[in-house]
Amino acid sequence: MLKITDLHASVAGKEILKGLSLEVKPGEVHALMGPNGAGKSTLGNVLAGRAGYEVTAGSVEFEGAPLLDLAPEERAAAGLFLAFQYPVEIPGVNNTYFLRAALNAQRKARGEAELDSMQFLKRVREKLAVLHLKDELLHRAVNEGFSGGEKKRNEIFQLAVLEPKLAILDETDSGLDIDALKAVADGVNALRSPERAFLVITHYQRLLDYIRPDVVHVLAEGRIVESGGPELALELEAHGYSWIRDRLGPEA
Ligand code: ADP
Ligand code: MG
Ligand code: MG
Repeated sequence: MLKITDLHASVAGKEILKGLSLEVKPGEVHALMGPNGAGKSTLGNVLAGRAGYEVTAGSVEFEGAPLLDLAPEERAAAGLFLAFQYPVEIPGVNNTYFLRAALNAQRKARGEAELDSMQFLKRVREKLAVLHLKDELLHRAVNEGFSGGEKKRNEIFQLAVLEPKLAILDETDSGLDIDALKAVADGVNALRSPERAFLVITHYQRLLDYIRPDVVHVLAEGRIVESGGPELALELEAHGYSWIRDRLGPEA
């Protein structure tokens, strides 16, 4: 589903990703961990197509087609969800209205019929039920005055409604309380399916107490330096990242 090969990327003229390769298959949940500054969020931003992130070498395929030539909205229409695409507060714009516009824009780009209000409401009710969310979420303005936990719930709700093939969640390191972590984990677990894959980027092992990933990767110095099963996350919790650094040798 996602195939990243020898990816090199720079930010502000500085090379951050230095030959990153990673493959995610349908139905799999991958966790990407690594020390602060390793390049985890840079990878997320490159995959999102954010301005300022320059790919200098390597390739990314999504469902067999090159991803990097696509504009951000084309990536979304192709079935890629990036949680941090929609964290913005949009005062005065109703959450449901916003989501319907986003969903229908994607459907239109795919040549699918737009959902009318009845169809959309049906989908929204279905997702609220699956995620055990309260429908007050529908009536609020997008992220306006939301707590950290509410923003996370809303992000997962957006994910559920948009039904992407691959969801990339960048759980940035600060300010996520246990409530917010659980909201993310419960959402991911509820939305796992044989067709959908997740790439969960996190600095913290704790999130993986609630999401059991199929594969864990460690990103350090711009490369994947270790991949393994869930036990790798436990090893990192016990020993930190220093043993990974030791292993990188003098070049790193
Ligand atoms: P992580 O998410 O693993 O903590 P990041 O991808 O955020 O790491 O950052 C990797 C490196 O890239 C850091 O040295 C950071 O300072 C640098 N970096 C990331 N984004 C920018 C940017 N927009 N401008 C300048 N430097 C950046
Ligand atoms: Mg960081
Ligand atoms: Mg980060």
